[in-house]
Amino acid sequence: MAQINITNVSKIYAGGVEAVKSVSLDIADGEFIVLVGPSGCGKSTLLRMVAGLEAISKGTVEIGDRVINDIEPAERDIAMVFQNYALYPHMTVYNNLAYGLKNRGTPKAEIDARVAEAARMLEIEPYLTRKPRALSGGQRQRVAMGRAIVRKPAAFLFDEPLSNLDAKLRVTMRGEIKQLQKRLGTTSLYVTHDQLEAMTLADRLVVLNGGQIEQIGRPLDVYHTP
Ligand code: ADP
Ligand code: ADP
Repeated sequence: MAQINITNVSKIYAGGVEAVKSVSLDIADGEFIVLVGPSGCGKSTLLRMVAGLEAISKGTVEIGDRVINDIEPAERDIAMVFQNYALYPHMTVYNNLAYGLKNRGTPKAEIDARVAEAARMLEIEPYLTRKPRALSGGQRQRVAMGRAIVRKPAAFLFDEPLSNLDAKLRVTMRGEIKQLQKRLGTTSLYVTHDQLEAMTLADRLVVLNGGQIEQIGRPLDVYHTP
């Protein structure tokens, strides 16, 4: 586990769009931060810079005591959960969960133990030998979360992970993420446009607007502000 320190971070895309403008945000160890704001305000860009999927134009991002600007995504000790699941279609659920650990040279016994634990937590044990296409949307999203959990990363990054699910399943999965958060206590940065998700999950909410932090606070304080 680790804190995340984002300091004066900007993103200027080729063509000159300044999508994120000198944002600073200190996330405590174990804190769950939800990023909200209108479409195009820079949420995804900020998350992707922390993830290493987008170069940081200015400023620094630290995870724990490491400045991660120049560290490869795979070496950042973070795990990302996407809205489109990003599962390997040709691999079984077990192999989807195990793949990242295998690549890191984790011993087989340790991989099996971690996969079993994550599968139990997420109730996907019956599906370990299936391929993603044989799963429902909710099951796929659980596999995507399982792949993040088995890494035991210092931080989780979530990019609208529930937005492809129907309304009923979103409510269920929201509850499950909340439970996981309590159980694992992993520092998290979560992007959503769903107010209920934000209210339920956030320790602190960050409202971005035009690439800048407009408001930051506990969910009730932010949403009760006129
Ligand atoms: P959000 O996630 O809040 O919807 P984004 O981070 O996707 O916002 O986008 C922020 C701004 O950056 C928008 O104006 C968007 O058009 C622009 N943008 C996003 N990605 C790119 C890109 N690859 N190249 C140029 N501009 C981009
Ligand atoms: P992790 O190390 O987080 O477990 P993987 O090693 O499984 O992730 O995947 C490495 C990268 O490939 C990740 O960025 C992941 O999003 C991406 N990826 C995963 N599945 C697919 C896919 N089916 N097609 C393309 N890219 C994928």
